[in-house]
Amino acid sequence: MAEIQLRNLSKRWGAFVGVDNFDLTIADKEFLVLLGPSGCGKTTTMRMIAGLEDATEGDILVDGKRVNDLEPKDRDVAMVFQSYALYPNMNVYDNIRFPLKVRGIDPSTHDEKVRRASAMVELDEFLHRKPAELSGGQRQRVALARAIVREPNVFLMDEPLSNLDAKLRVSTRAQIKNLSHELAVTTIYVTHDQIEAMTLADRVVVMKQGVVQQVGSPTDIYDAPANAFVASFIGSPAMNLVDGELKDGVFRAKNTEITGLSGPDGKVTLGFRAEDANVVESDGEINAPIYTMELLGDATMVSVRISGALVSVKADKLFRAEIDDAVSIQVHKDHCHLFDAETGERIG
Ligand code: ATP
Repeated sequence: MAEIQLRNLSKRWGAFVGVDNFDLTIADKEFLVLLGPSGCGKTTTMRMIAGLEDATEGDILVDGKRVNDLEPKDRDVAMVFQSYALYPNMNVYDNIRFPLKVRGIDPSTHDEKVRRASAMVELDEFLHRKPAELSGGQRQRVALARAIVREPNVFLMDEPLSNLDAKLRVSTRAQIKNLSHELAVTTIYVTHDQIEAMTLADRVVVMKQGVVQQVGSPTDIYDAPANAFVASFIGSPAMNLVDGELKDGVFRAKNTEITGLSGPDGKVTLGFRAEDANVVESDGEINAPIYTMELLGDATMVSVRISGALVSVKADKLFRAEIDDAVSIQVHKDHCHLFDAETGERIG
């Protein structure tokens, strides 16, 4: 059992604010992902939970007990890092066993625990090898097994997939998801990769410059981004964002006129996703020359430029045209988002 409460947690170095007033309860067994661009404070938040960094303000509670003053080793958390941090002179077996030794766990239980953890990450055949004799993916699995073997109440994972190539990232991601389900341990996972966040998380926390922007399920965040920053960060491709003017429910920008929207008159940013629009023969809401086209296999991504913004739409895979040809785009009004042009906050 491990419910984690972060109460108004902040980290400052002099005047610089790394993490600003982070306030959240993470449920027992929840898989929480901290997502945001480089430098937004994800790792610092994680390090405060691990005890590797002191909080400037605020409290960290595990199952209602304040742990701010506990040493990292006395917190029941296991960390997995981007750099696998394995001991090069020890073989896989001893690397995985190491945390049991350090913690003075009854040696008669070690062998069974090491074998169970290594089987979970499919390393049984590699126990005698040294880290240098393993691939990157195998090394990261050793690091995972070393975290699992401790049977901690909390897993903290800091970009564990970022040193792996694209294909391995996908398979290791699936393995982490499966493991977290099997072990049912509260997990906090840091990434700047929105696809990892969407596929792994029960809830995602989107951060920017130390400040939490939105907390929600992947679906919440995808379907109802709280602001233009979240909208631009989630989804592949990112949500189309076009600056323009709303008046009496009509949005206007260069080459664009969309009627029947609801929101306050004034300067706004219109958002819609590539899949919420399609290419039509004529009479679409956007009429502009094609800027570029990309073949995706199952579809063709057609892009135009409006007011400096790239607007991408998924067309049929058989769609054929040339760059600069005129194209007409129909936008699904029910799936349009409106953001305040100044603050970026959702207004409709
Ligand atoms: P990344 O994805 O690049 O790891 P991050 O979101 O994890 O980024 P943090 O490592 O938490 O970001 O850093 C947050 C901010 O705090 C950054 O701007 C960083 O430069 C700053 N920072 C981190 N450690 C220190 C420190 N010891 N002294 C001063 N500033 C720091």
